[in-house]
Amino acid sequence: MSNSSTHLVVIGAGPGGYAAAFLAADLGMAVTLIDEDTNPGGVCLYRGCIPSKALLHAAKVLSEAREAKNFGVDFPEPKIHLDQLRQWKNNVVGRMTSGLGVLVKQRKIQYIRGKARFLNSSSLQINETSGSVTQLNFATAILATGSRPILLPNLPASDRIMDSTSALEIKDIPQSLLVVGGGYIGLELGTVYAQLGSKITVVEMTPGLIPGADRDVVQILSRQVEKIFSNMMLNTKVTGMATTDSGIKVTFEQEDGQKKAAEFSKVLIAIGRKPNTQDLGLEHTKIQLDSRQFVKVSPTRQTTDKNIYAIGDIAGEPMLAHKASHEGRIAVEAIAGHKVAFEPQAIPAVVFTDPEIAWCGLTETQAAKENRPVKVAKFPWGASGRAVTLDRPEGLTKLIIDPATERVLGMVVVGTGAGELIAEGVLAVEMGSVVSDIKLSIHPHPTLSETIMESAESFFGQSTHIYRPIQK
Ligand code: NAD
Repeated sequence: MSNSSTHLVVIGAGPGGYAAAFLAADLGMAVTLIDEDTNPGGVCLYRGCIPSKALLHAAKVLSEAREAKNFGVDFPEPKIHLDQLRQWKNNVVGRMTSGLGVLVKQRKIQYIRGKARFLNSSSLQINETSGSVTQLNFATAILATGSRPILLPNLPASDRIMDSTSALEIKDIPQSLLVVGGGYIGLELGTVYAQLGSKITVVEMTPGLIPGADRDVVQILSRQVEKIFSNMMLNTKVTGMATTDSGIKVTFEQEDGQKKAAEFSKVLIAIGRKPNTQDLGLEHTKIQLDSRQFVKVSPTRQTTDKNIYAIGDIAGEPMLAHKASHEGRIAVEAIAGHKVAFEPQAIPAVVFTDPEIAWCGLTETQAAKENRPVKVAKFPWGASGRAVTLDRPEGLTKLIIDPATERVLGMVVVGTGAGELIAEGVLAVEMGSVVSDIKLSIHPHPTLSETIMESAESFFGQSTHIYRPIQK
């Protein structure tokens, strides 16, 4: 076994790991980055955010072409060339990941393809993809190994049962698809398959889609997705699955105990993800895990082993790429001796459905949970010129405001492009803006961003495009 050493080793090259490695190199550290894939990218670029967004773009074009009928532009039913669509999606992934490969070289980072396990708190064994086994000694390590899908127990072995990774391969367009789980992945990939032509059934065990998000925005989303999905089973659990000649027979149990069964061409399981904290040799370090198998970390993302930091999905919820990247940069700055801490006031979350749902900071649901008094300023998109010209008036923008200080504590949006709009909310919360800061900032007309300004105006009962005076 050959032996080498590095100042910083980063294990896992997803958006957490590569962002950390790149900043560390920029700060002058000698960096080694380890991952099994050809280039950096991780789940997000290879098997998650990027390929799913490429497919969602195709889905959006399909739905817009169909909806154009409403204003007198009638396209014939589109032909879908699945091989070409898959190739385009793969090209998008290839372009982004190979770009990261170039950045690795430009920054003179040593990139090793392989699987690393800790031998102790200052060395790793790496089983390289090439077959060789090496030992790497390090001064500091950042662990960024991400997460993997949770599967239902006792599933029959069948390629008709997909997780998010296999669903992104779009091997075919199943005639009927059961989506188990009405969260991020289920709704995003359900939207893709629905627009491609599958009959979608969603089964969700809680009373509503996207548990945890504000119910009024989820209701708007639900009304829209009901138009493209053929069935939505809430408060329902899957109790069993069996393969048949033509598909998967699934049995369900509703909250009232009623049992049902139906057959589907394929099934997608999207019931959450769990941290990749197994099989890393953590038992040879002083790293501790919590009861949910997340690594215990300090505000600088230092683990209970002082030489090792942990970031991203393994360091706790929310399991989002942009949270991982930020944590990675914080950990590197801490290693460089800078005075930093991971203390965001507003981590944005975006569900890329149609319409999109996005939120940051405090939501109404969270405020109610914490018994925290808030005022909510709302602007319905039916009164937005831009939303109406897009034929998408169903959206809603909300600002969550502290009644005592009038500070903006959070923002919640549902509507087309909500994922782009939420960045303004993040800035407002992080900068400690009061609601009049947003009211007094001129927003361009006609844009959806005006709905944020008009929400702020509505807090004072003075929104130009809705009449909602404050009750005296
Ligand atoms: P999720 O937590 O978003 O949703 C899982 C859903 O499955 C929940 O609604 C849950 O109530 C339901 N569920 C759980 N067990 C069930 C069962 N046995 N039967 C029926 N329903 C069940 O998880 P996900 O959609 O798998 O996504 C995993 C994570 O990946 C997300 O939490 C998110 O952090 C990340 N992600 C983010 C994005 C994005 O940022 N746009 C997109 C995809 C994934």
